Amino acid sequence: MLNGACIVTDQPVEGIPEKLVQVTEPGKMVQEAIELRGIKVKLAPVNIPVAYGPAFEGEVVRRPDTYTEAGGASKTLAFELLRVRPEDEVQDGRIEVIGPDVDAMPEGGKTPIAILVDVYGKRMSEDFEGVLERRIHLFVNYAEGAWHTGQRNILWIRLSKPAVAAGLRFKHFGDILITKLKEEFGNIVSRVQVTIVTDENEVRKRLPEALEVYAQRDARVAGLTDESVDTLYVCTLCSSFAPDHICIITPERLGLCGAVNWLDAKAAEEIDPNGPNRGILKGECLDETKGQWRGINEAVFEGTHHKIERFNAYTMMEDPMTSCGCFEVIVAMTADAQAVIAVNREYAGMTPIGMKFSSLAGSVGGGRQTPGFIGIGRKYITSRKFISADGGFLRIAWMPRELKEAMRDALQKRAEELGEPDFVDKIADETVTTDAEGLMEWMVKVDHPALRMPPLLS
Ligand code: SF4
Repeated sequence: MLNGACIVTDQPVEGIPEKLVQVTEPGKMVQEAIELRGIKVKLAPVNIPVAYGPAFEGEVVRRPDTYTEAGGASKTLAFELLRVRPEDEVQDGRIEVIGPDVDAMPEGGKTPIAILVDVYGKRMSEDFEGVLERRIHLFVNYAEGAWHTGQRNILWIRLSKPAVAAGLRFKHFGDILITKLKEEFGNIVSRVQVTIVTDENEVRKRLPEALEVYAQRDARVAGLTDESVDTLYVCTLCSSFAPDHICIITPERLGLCGAVNWLDAKAAEEIDPNGPNRGILKGECLDETKGQWRGINEAVFEGTHHKIERFNAYTMMEDPMTSCGCFEVIVAMTADAQAVIAVNREYAGMTPIGMKFSSLAGSVGGGRQTPGFIGIGRKYITSRKFISADGGFLRIAWMPRELKEAMRDALQKRAEELGEPDFVDKIADETVTTDAEGLMEWMVKVDHPALRMPPLLS
């Protein structure tokens, strides 16, 4: 100890924090010693019955090849949550499946799922939870025949028939996540345990905690404004799906997947300076209204392999941000250029611009700039900066009922801030109309504020 070495003993000693530690259970002594010395354990490669590696990251499992799926279009309850827990609540390497695993499920079926990851590490903090949780997307996709899209409680997971025939099970998500989280975040995480829940009652029971944690994470960034910071963040995590796409994350515009806000990106860079998030100085402001800065343009030019020269953060009509395919919501201009609609991924019906979400996603995604269309995280709808150069929040004329109801409180608060307390009920949904003519009639009937704005296309 005089030489700075730590001592772990089962003898009854008074103890000195971080130096002389009593551990009475022999089985826990090694773990304690590893954590005291901050040793990063390198685990063997992921041991699962299918091939594993970045080569499978962009692989898509199509419906005819799907053995089972969860969330997304299958409409089952699905979410993922990573939390830091106290030391004695995390048993490193523990994997538990609550409910049937894939081998007890019929081919072609669907299942609810909750992926619950508990971590502990002396340097791990709540601020890093969202960063590690977002990597579930990447790590699961590395498995051949496993497809993961979305995040938080808008997940969509598929396992392919060949992968299940080869022995892949949901329990292997545990092996994947334990190995990869410790491999990539071993500097902050020393224990990882994973619980996969497929029992519907149990999934339902655990959802409220996840919703509360998501809300707390979003609230942390709420006091920050774009003007109050000189650094914005790029995120390139989805470049394997859309090589020319990068997200620019500002305090008032989170990543389009809805899972990475400005503070998450800042924390991610702190944890892993060579990772997908990087702080960029805004530099000279080139257009305050549209949200364009010299430093960001340079980062965009470099990040899109010189395909895109400039980004505007606050307009969807001119040099808008690109989209990969993970957007929670698509905002699209109406045919008469007078308003916009906001349609969420979960809505499968027709919209007043004559396209369903799936067709819109095909035109908006892939890293292209598509004026008149943007993919966004749903929280951006109630941001002060939501298409603020195009008339902002009051341009919205239509959104699916489910989205409107899920966001009602936040929409109402934003409407009141803008002095239009009746506005939320002026937004039509599919029960009012799903065609362009019906939408215009509705806007006239309710005296929609977008009718008093100049058209989006002049
Ligand atoms: S959608 Fe954007 S912010 Fe979200 S993980 Fe992908 S690149 Fe990052």
